[in-house]
Amino acid sequence: MKDAREDILGLMPHEIVKRLQEMGEQAFRGKQVINWLYKGVISFEDMTNLSKATRKKLEDKYIIGSVKLLEKRISKNGDTIKYLCLLADHNIIECVVMKYNYGNTLCLSTQVGCRMGCSFCASTKQGLVRDLEVGEMMAQVVMANTHIKQTDERGIRNIVLMGSGEPLDNYSNVIKFLRLVNHPEGLNISYRNITLSTCGLVPKMKRLAQENIPITLSISLHAPNDELRKKIMPVASAYSVDEIIEAGKYFFEKTGRRVTFEYSLIDRLNDNVYDAKELASKIKGFPCHVNVIPINEIEDMPYKRSSESRIKVFVQTLKTLGVQVTRRRELGQDIEGACGQLKRSYLDSLDK
Ligand code: SAH
Repeated sequence: MKDAREDILGLMPHEIVKRLQEMGEQAFRGKQVINWLYKGVISFEDMTNLSKATRKKLEDKYIIGSVKLLEKRISKNGDTIKYLCLLADHNIIECVVMKYNYGNTLCLSTQVGCRMGCSFCASTKQGLVRDLEVGEMMAQVVMANTHIKQTDERGIRNIVLMGSGEPLDNYSNVIKFLRLVNHPEGLNISYRNITLSTCGLVPKMKRLAQENIPITLSISLHAPNDELRKKIMPVASAYSVDEIIEAGKYFFEKTGRRVTFEYSLIDRLNDNVYDAKELASKIKGFPCHVNVIPINEIEDMPYKRSSESRIKVFVQTLKTLGVQVTRRRELGQDIEGACGQLKRSYLDSLDK
């Protein structure tokens, strides 16, 4: 049964202070609670500078981040850690920490499952189960940050919304989460260090541009034209490549932040030289970035990753045509680091 108590991790700092004041406490008590929460404390009992009575009052009304760590997997070279988390309603989500030289990056989930139906993505196989609450997204950050800080004082510096789910399909919760994670009294993670990835929900991209949240917008394009895109992404029937690029330009104009186009290479499907040329012509003159990554082969899917030589030619073609392109590092392959893979293998093992 769903816990009737509210998740305190989903509240903004000023909301927490107000709630404590409503309980007859002074404002600084709210600040103490906030401190504990972001230090990773998961029980009010452990907030030892509050009176027993206050702890009890909090306990009666609130829970702290309803996410429980089920399992963690660390890649052989230690640069990727994948966390499998149990939600209060027994759904399972996952998040991944990737260690880069410039800081630790957390890739988190915004929904249980996804309804976008991209044919190469494991997260969408069972469709959308539900949206994640603000506190459930925060809990992923606090949990990973606390765990990483045990061995690395830098903690989590960057966040990418690239786990399971389509962030713009859970719009209001994601917006509140972004404001909360950026809050100076909270984790204070700079918007510049946050990337939101979308399959291209055009109206929501435009709305996001107006929120005054200058994050990096990453657009999963994966094809230079609608015909090809429709073969792999059902959302392509709702919004055209041209509209998506226009929305990307609008985001850039409004926020001054460069957008990134994600392009996963599938052998002989979207990795031809003429695809690279078409992509280059579509984004010509737009100061953006293209991130190329070979598709991660997933069970029951007909796609193969492109050969090294085809990847190189694709990237080189874009470069020659003046596109700023990088090949994304593939981390955590040995721990099933790609979208939805760990969760699926965990669930499969339970079935057996
Ligand atoms: N729904 C959002 C964010 C989640 S997916 C989006 O579509 O952008 C994060 C990125 O991983 C997207 O670019 C997505 O297209 C890509 N992706 C999903 N499955 C993949 C796979 N098997 N191999 C490579 N990239 C994949």
